[in-house]
Amino acid sequence: MSCVFCQIISGKIPSDIVYQDEEITAFRDIEPQAPVHILIVPKKHIGALGDISHEDATIIGEMTLVANKLAEQEGISQRGYRVVVNSGPEGGQAVSHLHMHLLGGRQLSGQLG
Ligand code: 5GP
Ligand code: ZN
Repeated sequence: MSCVFCQIISGKIPSDIVYQDEEITAFRDIEPQAPVHILIVPKKHIGALGDISHEDATIIGEMTLVANKLAEQEGISQRGYRVVVNSGPEGGQAVSHLHMHLLGGRQLSGQLG
């Protein structure tokens, strides 16, 4: 099992886990780009957004609900925040296990890429 996020989910690699349920784990990014930078990750290994099957599509909605809940917990829900999903090499995806970035706690740039 070489996937770093699968190893975090199974506890083989330590991380600062902030949320867990049957389907999802969320932990703080090791190289935060903002005061709040959390990765929301399905426990099932799905390589990328581009690999989502119809059967797995509901996980994106579940991840969004977790992002909103964590934004509330982190105290940024009123000020606003950003969720980002990078998919594939030119999308800037470095870890090949689907994940959603939750970013906030400062004014984020207007640039998207
Ligand atoms: P991507 O570029 O694939 O969208 O985002 C991958 C993210 O995973 C990066 O922001 C990177 O800092 C984070 N990351 C990579 N390895 C680890 C790790 O071992 N632990 C944690 N907590 N984050 C990681
Ligand atoms: Zn994985």
